[in-house]
Amino acid sequence: MGKRIKVEMASRIKNLPPYLFASIDKMKQKAIKKGVDLIDLSIGDPDLPTPRHIVSAMQKAVENPVHHRYPSYEGMLSFRQSVSEWYKKRFGVKLDPKNEVLSLIGSKEGIGHIPLAFINPGDTVLVPSPGYPVYPVGTLFAGGKSYIMPLIEKNAFLPDFSSIPERVFQRAKLMFINYPNNPTSASATLDFFKEVVRIALKYNIIVCHDASYTEIYYDKKPLSYLQTPGAKETGIEFHSLSKTFNMTGWRIGFAVGNKEVLAGLGKVKTNLDSGIFQAIQEASIVALNTEDRILAKIRDTYKERRDILYNGLKEMGIELSRPEATFYLWAKTPSKFDSAGFVAHILNKAGVLVTPGNGFGSPGEGYVRFALTASVERIKEAVERIKKII
Ligand SMILES: *Cc1c(COP(=O)(O)O)cnc(C)c1O
Repeated sequence: MGKRIKVEMASRIKNLPPYLFASIDKMKQKAIKKGVDLIDLSIGDPDLPTPRHIVSAMQKAVENPVHHRYPSYEGMLSFRQSVSEWYKKRFGVKLDPKNEVLSLIGSKEGIGHIPLAFINPGDTVLVPSPGYPVYPVGTLFAGGKSYIMPLIEKNAFLPDFSSIPERVFQRAKLMFINYPNNPTSASATLDFFKEVVRIALKYNIIVCHDASYTEIYYDKKPLSYLQTPGAKETGIEFHSLSKTFNMTGWRIGFAVGNKEVLAGLGKVKTNLDSGIFQAIQEASIVALNTEDRILAKIRDTYKERRDILYNGLKEMGIELSRPEATFYLWAKTPSKFDSAGFVAHILNKAGVLVTPGNGFGSPGEGYVRFALTASVERIKEAVERIKKII
């Protein structure tokens, strides 16, 4: 062997929080190797396929050589127009497709990049926890500091603004929120969103609302943050086709709302990526015009699964609330277990894999997340197996 360089990670990589799912991955691989018939309820990725009419539109679009060249940075105007029409129809929110809609390579991409546009080293970002790990990691990569807003049951899994010190609000530049929420499955009220607007205006904080789950609902339709009076003056909303249309693999999302905030995010993106494959944007226009009867069928599928799992867990004495939206159940671990212990117990004894709540941040300790991304038969089987070992 000749000489070799010493490879050393940058401190922003070294400073990443420990990957709490690593030990779960190991346990999962071990179980599969042992031949366990694993029921995996750990993934937030729809098991249902993308609806047929969207796939057909993609097949047609991919044939068109016009789409084989670099796309425009901000997204095709026709795609942004259809986002604007969808927002009008679904939420009654008016958006100018020219400067109030920005296409994203999945909403994760935009969420991860937005701190680069507005956060200087040392700046404070308000981050909900348990929550989507990209909020604190995007903050860290921009050199910012996360101030954790714990989401706990007592506050209906909404941040308790009254517990945040004045000086923190004064220092904060940006706030992430996410409703319907992953992982707690909680929904927000209009009153909560009004309070967010009030705080943002008072302390000059950019609000970034992650709305990926507004279309996965059961009874009441979830709100857009932009339906709140004044919201567009405070920030933006991230949305995605991933969960709504079973399109997680396609990588397309969008951000809407405040045009100055979108211009900042757009500036970062122009310098880093080259937009979304236009054929995907063409197919997404078709997706956004999907007949509601197709989406209602998808919601019914999740509803049947939710009822079976919720009732099954409830009967065993597990404490949890019945979600109004998202495809997650956020359940308290039985008192003799912590999150990791309960995950290990039901994996080793029942062959059912769920996600430990503390993997989404320490306030998630004492909970596990069940995802409704398996068939009714498998969910029934999971309930039967867990019942025997609890
Ligand atoms: C799935 C998910 C996303 C993003 O998904 P994309 O596929 O990147 O659009 C964003 N936020 C939350 C909370 C999610 O669960």
